Amino acid sequence: MEDCIFCKIAAKKIPAKVVYEDDRILAFDDIRPQAPIHTLIIPKDHFASLADVPAERSDLLADILMAARRVAAGKGLATSGYRIVLNTGRDSGQDVFHIHFHLLGGRRMTWPPG
Ligand code: AMP
Ligand code: ZN
Repeated sequence: MEDCIFCKIAAKKIPAKVVYEDDRILAFDDIRPQAPIHTLIIPKDHFASLADVPAERSDLLADILMAARRVAAGKGLATSGYRIVLNTGRDSGQDVFHIHFHLLGGRRMTWPPG
């Protein structure tokens, strides 16, 4: 997707602080962190949101979660815990329409989320 900011990050056309990468997944720190640790995990392929991931690619979602767990452990969050957020669509507050999982940690989270 030409005008997608996260596709540009995945293609290394826009800089980002990459913390994990494999052939299908990229994780990079959020530019406006909402917690001491705030990393985004994305598939390199473009899907606008969870609603756009076809069933035959659902293994990608599991791989993203496993990558998030790995990043969390690498950032020292395995014991203290962390939150993974997947905003989907207008009411969730999704701003960037390339599916991304937020990994948040390093502080006590509140519940319910706002
Ligand atoms: P969402 O509201 O779920 O769509 O979240 C989009 C997230 O992307 C926000 O937390 C932004 O701070 C983050 N973001 C937007 N542009 C960039 C960028 N160039 N590099 C890193 N994070 C970004
Ligand atoms: Zn994209």
